[in-house]
Amino acid sequence: MWLPSSSNLIVTSRVVVQKYGGSSLANETLIRRVATRIRDRHRTDPSLVVAVSAMGDTTDELLALAQRLAGDTRPHPREADALVSTGELVSASLVAITLRGLGIPAVSLSGRQAGIRTDTTYGSARIANVNTKRVTRELNAGNVVVVAGFQGLTETDDTTTLGRGASDLTAVALAAALSAKVCEVYTDVDGIFTADPNLVPNARVLRYIGYNEMLEMASLGAKMNPRSIEVAAVNNVNLRILSSFNPDSTGSLISATPSEDEDMEIDRPITAVTTERHVGRIVLRGIDNRPGTAAAIMMPLAEAGVSVDVIVQNVSESGLASLAFTVSSGDLANAMQLVRERSGVQFRAVDAEDGFAKVSIVGTGMVNAPGFAARTFKALADADVNIEMITTSEIRITCIVRHEDLSTAANALHAAFGLGDS
Ligand code: ASP
Ligand code: MG
Repeated sequence: MWLPSSSNLIVTSRVVVQKYGGSSLANETLIRRVATRIRDRHRTDPSLVVAVSAMGDTTDELLALAQRLAGDTRPHPREADALVSTGELVSASLVAITLRGLGIPAVSLSGRQAGIRTDTTYGSARIANVNTKRVTRELNAGNVVVVAGFQGLTETDDTTTLGRGASDLTAVALAAALSAKVCEVYTDVDGIFTADPNLVPNARVLRYIGYNEMLEMASLGAKMNPRSIEVAAVNNVNLRILSSFNPDSTGSLISATPSEDEDMEIDRPITAVTTERHVGRIVLRGIDNRPGTAAAIMMPLAEAGVSVDVIVQNVSESGLASLAFTVSSGDLANAMQLVRERSGVQFRAVDAEDGFAKVSIVGTGMVNAPGFAARTFKALADADVNIEMITTSEIRITCIVRHEDLSTAANALHAAFGLGDS
């Protein structure tokens, strides 16, 4: 039986929220399979709300089509959102149709009908609130409620989308608003892994992950919309990541505290090794060491929407500083140009270099426990991997390495912290 954790006083309902991603709904066969799973679940949990993504690569295809037709301009943001939101409408109604074909009462709802209200930031709108009236009415009428993910409605009645990969967010927001007992996210892998299994062959599925760890991991490449983790954490939503292809998988639980089943596993200091490819680095040498320099360099980048990641500054004996930072490879040329032409900062030399990668260890066990940085550096040294840059948070140590060293580095750290199968 499910019991609410003692630390939260939130009263949970009997509602179960599920989310199915685009790869789980990519064609007719897969939609049938999803519908069958929903039907089976409906027997034990009749109050079922299902958020869906667009089928397969629909969103990418619609965006590419819009771009072709917009010529040299950027597709108008309001129209682009109106367009891409249709992908989820298609899959929601198809899932409802398939369920009805299986004899299960079901109704599909758009984001608007599901009461998801957002601000007006087209393309990455924030959810302002969720009015659950209609969803609750449909549940009470005995329907499985299939909600089109990824979309909402502004106060002025315009359709918005919530950002790429944000059907997760729809599911979590609905789970929070309905005080659901669990939000299950079905995807094409077995759960959240201790490392990328394509890189680290003996990576295994984590049974339990805390919100903070998952936040670090979501922003470091483990696939899960980071904002959905934030919303889950704030509202204490129990999230379970499961495979839609493997019915036997128990997946990974993301929550404030592990349930009894996962309890045994939390006695580990490091949870996972995360990796990210395609990192570029810009180094500015001989800049003035005085207030305002770093701000002047970063402002034009921020204004252009280039996200800067690892930043390292050091001061040489001459009193001049060097500043190095990373951006994604795709942003490197643009970032270089912005620094050169818009920052107004004097420097002796600047260069941009591609071909880096990021590898991190993540785990709440390193809070207040010394020695993890030393162990990380030692493991990389023993594997003959050179560390180019280092950055840390309370529960993470990140190293920038050469791209060709990424696999060696990830395997070395995974082994050094005992994350593989024992
Ligand atoms: N279909 C949207 C996207 O591809 C939302 C999602 O998949 O979660 O970004
Ligand atoms: Mg998608």
